[in-house]
Amino acid sequence: MSAETLIENSLVVHAFLAEKGWRSQICTKCGSTFFIKTSNSTNSTFCGWHKCNNGTYPFRTLSKRKSLLTIQQINTRMREYFRSVGFIPIPPLNIANAAGQTDLVIAGVQVFDNIIHNEEPIREDPFFISQPCVRMQFQPQVESQEGTSSSFVNVCTEKMGAGITQHLQTIDQWCTFLSQMGLHMNDFVLVLRTRTNDWGTGAFQSLELFFSYGGLELGDAAFVLIPQANRDPIPISDIGFGLERIAWAVNKTASYFDLLTPWTSTESRELHDACRTLSLLVLCGVQASNKGPGLQFRRFAKLLSEKYYGAELYALIQYYYNYWAQFIEPHVDCEQTLLRARLEIERFINRRLCAELKLPRPDEETTEDYLNRLVYLHGANLHELRNTVQTCKRQR
Ligand SMILES: [Zn+2]
Repeated sequence: MSAETLIENSLVVHAFLAEKGWRSQICTKCGSTFFIKTSNSTNSTFCGWHKCNNGTYPFRTLSKRKSLLTIQQINTRMREYFRSVGFIPIPPLNIANAAGQTDLVIAGVQVFDNIIHNEEPIREDPFFISQPCVRMQFQPQVESQEGTSSSFVNVCTEKMGAGITQHLQTIDQWCTFLSQMGLHMNDFVLVLRTRTNDWGTGAFQSLELFFSYGGLELGDAAFVLIPQANRDPIPISDIGFGLERIAWAVNKTASYFDLLTPWTSTESRELHDACRTLSLLVLCGVQASNKGPGLQFRRFAKLLSEKYYGAELYALIQYYYNYWAQFIEPHVDCEQTLLRARLEIERFINRRLCAELKLPRPDEETTEDYLNRLVYLHGANLHELRNTVQTCKRQR
């Protein structure tokens, strides 16, 4: 988008929001333009972005539903709503199928990767996608910042060849859907930002409208014009939300993880997050390696073996396998997923036992199999082995 088009489009967004009853303000903390409903009587001078309100998520104090909705119920309602307004539901990409610059799929708009990067024919049908994604940059904050996870479902509407008017119409449909779910527009702040992006085919400006609900960023609506080497730039209306975040906003539980974890589990957010993302990677066929998607699998396996070995890891990996299988066709069955995860997690344990007790080297085998070999074939000291296994468990 040229600077002039960007300004024009930005004015169109302002006019559209004004007509829908939003007034604009400038945030005194971050300087962004933000919009709140004219009927909203609060006199806030900052935008409500988590960085501008200390990440306290005040939406949790808004009035709550009588009964909770499951994440899948919300997903189904959303898909049916968007189908009714012309968006065709399409299956998600495999998590390791990113044709662009990322190793893993990080957003639903990547269904267009082959069109953007390999100049395949443009598809102008409007699509709805529930795309499982992995964003490694969120992993370090999972324990410290409530509301974050390294994997989530990006629910999005994508329309290639859209004009700004059509983009705004889709924004309006999202507002309708969110209101139907009990998230009132009065409790939203919309933050307008322009950014320079580059998806690998050259720099472009994007016009983005972020939806913050009582301090929780639920998603954003971007209007972009992707540069192409041998043809005109492609306009895309790319509107994506975090499904699990919408579910948290709808249900207003104390923690984001309340509806993600099994009821009986009391393990840490970091452990749950690692099991969730690891399950997703393995069921998509990712194999452990030292680069690319396999490196991320290896990182999570290492974290789990070093900090959480002995916890209910395999039961949780199975639980999250079932979670992801609701959204994406597994490439690997549950039993095989568990075995691959276990071999990689226990590889680190076996190496430690081997080094500490100066034992024969492990093969690619579970710790049980390794210990069997050591005891029955190599005459290793059983009590020494048991004690060392216990120290592997006691680090947490
Ligand atoms: Zn701000």
